[in-house]
Amino acid sequence: MYDVVVVGGGVLGACVSYWISATSEASVCVMEKEAGPARHASGRNTGVVHTPFYMDPGSRGKMARASLESRPMWRDLAERHGVPWLEAGLYEAAATEAQHAVLERHARWAARNGVDPGDAVLLDGRDVARAEPGIRCHSALHAPREACTDYAALTRAVRTEAEKLGVRFAPGSRVDRVREGAVTRGGREVGARLVINCAGGSSLQVARSAGLADGYTALHFRGEYWISSVRLAGSCVYSVPTDPRFPFLDPHWICRAGGGVEVGPNAVPVAGPEAYEGIGGPAEAAEKLAEVLSGGARRLVTSPAFVELASREWLSSVSKSAMVSRLAGILPGIRPGMFRERGTAGIRSPVVDPAGRMLDEALELAGPGSYHVLNYNSPGATGAPAYARDLVGRIRGAGLLPPAGPPRHAVWR
Ligand SMILES: Cc1cc2nc3c(=O)[nH]c(=O)nc-3n(C[C@H](O)[C@H](O)[C@H](O)COP(=O)(O)OP(=O)(O)OC[C@H]3O[C@@H](n4cnc5c(N)ncnc54)[C@H](O)[C@@H]3O)c2cc1C
Repeated sequence: MYDVVVVGGGVLGACVSYWISATSEASVCVMEKEAGPARHASGRNTGVVHTPFYMDPGSRGKMARASLESRPMWRDLAERHGVPWLEAGLYEAAATEAQHAVLERHARWAARNGVDPGDAVLLDGRDVARAEPGIRCHSALHAPREACTDYAALTRAVRTEAEKLGVRFAPGSRVDRVREGAVTRGGREVGARLVINCAGGSSLQVARSAGLADGYTALHFRGEYWISSVRLAGSCVYSVPTDPRFPFLDPHWICRAGGGVEVGPNAVPVAGPEAYEGIGGPAEAAEKLAEVLSGGARRLVTSPAFVELASREWLSSVSKSAMVSRLAGILPGIRPGMFRERGTAGIRSPVVDPAGRMLDEALELAGPGSYHVLNYNSPGATGAPAYARDLVGRIRGAGLLPPAGPPRHAVWR
């Protein structure tokens, strides 16, 4: 019997286990179905520590705050554990005057989200070209301290720190069902006074096993990358989002913390949270189709805008030229021939509510003896330390965890 079982050993589950054990003597076990931590979204992402300039403080304020507060925690942990940390900076580049209005809005959001004025600066195209001759743009929002890191390595570092505080990590432990007082793993029940569901793209399925989240649907979008053999820019370069309804769509020029440069991710609709090839298995695809067509997501996915999006993203999956040409407006030197190798794809799983709306923030649901985090999406890796700290506070506030004890020796406070 554990006081707490955390389902999922990605960045969120690792951080949640850390904060529980840093603030109490509770016995905590992290159950992870894979052989090690961060094998899915947390180890398959762009690796950017985001400055929250592009998040509407009205609808995404919680994640924006978590991102801002987490940055120094990640930086400190990266230093202690020798994890790469490269402050490459980021330009959000407007190709046209009309797009410049979006940059101005983002500059206002940055201020309202508490970003230091020097960390989100509007520049005209000439200033950008002086600093980064490979970029051609009307203007840009420059985030000079935007950092690139390795979130899989950071997740392993959190795991190490949590283990020092007594957390037990159980790899190879798939949780099949959650009920009050227990989880089922491999046909056997393990007692748990509280279960916290941090199962990423599978968290909706885990919540359903506890009888929750009726009417919600998870969609899955594979983000693919191509590795460049030519360094067109030494900073990350993002275009202005083409469709504010689907802000995660546009591929970027990205710098990896280890020194490589890539283009990606696109957003190819697939059937499941681990469909890294093709569309996913036929059974999984049929099940997802039935789920989508019978739930709140039906209107969204059958809308002309979504169908057009799906066709464009699939084209960018099968055609390298279609993918890289999406950046040609702001990186005129880009050529398909520069890209010979694919990078590591990852899958984002936004959740659609029963009314057919894509959720802006993470959704937290409490059941008897369990607490579930759904729709924990980008910039979820950036925000994980502070988000997890506050989540543990909310769970405590709901009376599901005993009050915090005196702080234990720990890296983050
Ligand atoms: C392509 C892409 C690019 C991104 N870029 C960025 C970025 O640059 N910056 C940023 O901040 N964020 C980025 N993100 C978002 C970020 O990676 C995620 O928000 C974050 O990693 C989510 O962490 P998680 O722990 O919730 O999920 P995951 O890392 O997916 O972890 C969930 C874990 O639960 C396990 N699991 C699932 N079901 C079960 C079960 N039944 N039993 C036991 N274990 C289970 C899984 O194996 C997995 O290890 C990106 C995401 C993607 C996909």
